[in-house]
Amino acid sequence: MFRIQAYQHISTFRHMVASYSVTKVQKPLKDVRYTKLFINNEWHNAVSGRTFPTVDPSTGEIIAHVAEAEKDDVDLAVQAAKQAFRLGSPWRAMDASHRGQLLNRLADLIERDRVYLASLESLDNGKPFSVSYNLDVGETIKIYRYFGGFADKCHGKTIPMDGSYFCYTRLEPVGVCGQIIPWNFPLIMQCWKLAPALATGNTVVMKVAEQTPLSALYIASLVKEAGFPPGVVNILTGYGATAGAAIARHMDVDKVAFTGSTNVGRLIQKAAGESNLKRVTLELGGKSPCIVLADANLEHAVEQCHEAVFFNMGQCCAAGSRTYVEESIYDEFLEKAVEKAKARKIGNPFESDTEHGPQINNVQFNKILDYIKIGKKEGAKLVSGGDRYGDQGFFIKPTVFADVHDNMRIAREEIFGPVQSIIKFKKIDEVIERANGTRYGLAAGIFTKDLDRAMHLTQSLQAGTVWVNTYNIVASQTPFGGYKESGNGRELGEDGLKAYTEVKSVIVKMSQKNS
Ligand code: NAP
Ligand code: MG
Repeated sequence: MFRIQAYQHISTFRHMVASYSVTKVQKPLKDVRYTKLFINNEWHNAVSGRTFPTVDPSTGEIIAHVAEAEKDDVDLAVQAAKQAFRLGSPWRAMDASHRGQLLNRLADLIERDRVYLASLESLDNGKPFSVSYNLDVGETIKIYRYFGGFADKCHGKTIPMDGSYFCYTRLEPVGVCGQIIPWNFPLIMQCWKLAPALATGNTVVMKVAEQTPLSALYIASLVKEAGFPPGVVNILTGYGATAGAAIARHMDVDKVAFTGSTNVGRLIQKAAGESNLKRVTLELGGKSPCIVLADANLEHAVEQCHEAVFFNMGQCCAAGSRTYVEESIYDEFLEKAVEKAKARKIGNPFESDTEHGPQINNVQFNKILDYIKIGKKEGAKLVSGGDRYGDQGFFIKPTVFADVHDNMRIAREEIFGPVQSIIKFKKIDEVIERANGTRYGLAAGIFTKDLDRAMHLTQSLQAGTVWVNTYNIVASQTPFGGYKESGNGRELGEDGLKAYTEVKSVIVKMSQKNS
């Protein structure tokens, strides 16, 4: 979630953004085109008629009111998705290669509307426009194309089973997929779920995050324009406790894929168990370690550990929020890390040199400031930031704590904000145990020039992704997901595709068998 390789060339990209002459990239405040529920390729008010506001986190002002889906709307969307999935429907009868073409057409339309989509994303979420344009929309296009390419290349096996039988497997779609996504990467979270589900022939009912509904609804309009049949994709805006919970409990939803907090992940799994045992994949929180050995390239490690935690204002499930530094370089590392945090450019997401926007909302803003108070109270040393920036919106200065100990809450709990905890260690085996001493296991980073020690660490760390001398690099081809309470199942890559299929074994009796 995340920087892609291209993000490393951010200065080149800034040049590209500047070529839009910034005045052209304005907040699309008066140009929010879709605010209703997208069911069966049509726009609907909520059954209750209720709406709720979505807010610009850089000012706290309301951008628009969107329809508030509840259980009745979920029922309508599931009915549409079920109908679109019935045997013999246009979607079920469609060639796999045609599904791939539709996904590629969707990617083309996103490319056509890239500036608008990026500005909508920055308006609703607060992330810098340069990041929305380059990373969020850029990666979204790639992911729809990647899974589009997979649509007719996802197949079973022939199996040399015992006896006079011919056995082959088919990978079939699971059915109606409920998908519930968070607000930190609205477009990327949407395509991580939508693209593999559609490539494999499922239908979808997605509930997007209440804080960031706008880009998802615009994508819904492009889904229709691309030519997907009615009912294949249904997008609902609404609250988790009502619309989200109704999806998780629904008897006609065959699978639920969720990204968000570990606590809500537990509720989803419980609801699946208490209803129809729908398949569940969960991508949850983290408290990921970055481990810097004394032989690492120091400047590079400082820069990467800084981005690991401050990228996207710290609102990443994979954020490297525990920075473990070997004792002999600790003081030098700390000094440079503080310098970097102080230099990070905070401000208006629509200015081309902004690196750091606001937190998503007041709730997260207050939660993060509370954690900063807790850190100080527990005896960690605040060496940078620690308070709000400016007097409007939800901006928090990049914050660095030194002398953090593993038992402090800021080192154990997911803060989901721009707070770096720098922690000292002495020995490799000691740091492995400490890094693994968490209920999470999403990601980890290692910084060293010693290949042998790097390999020892990659094998010892309990994490779904381990980065060596880099961080936050995720691409459509690489599986992503968590160990332990960071979730189950994988997204992206071939593993992500398989999570949307059932394996059917077909066994045919033969009268004769030759070897
Ligand atoms: P969250 O409550 O887990 O929200 C994620 C999604 O789940 C949203 O669409 C949410 O709807 C929905 N949801 C909430 N309660 C639900 C329920 N009972 N049944 C079904 N769906 C439900 O996360 P949050 O409150 O936005 O953020 C809280 C914390 O979660 C953060 O501080 C962070 O630690 C973690 N988080 C992790 C990720 C990640 O990428 N792993 C992303 C976001 C947040 P609403 O829009 O109504 O909330
Ligand atoms: Mg918003």
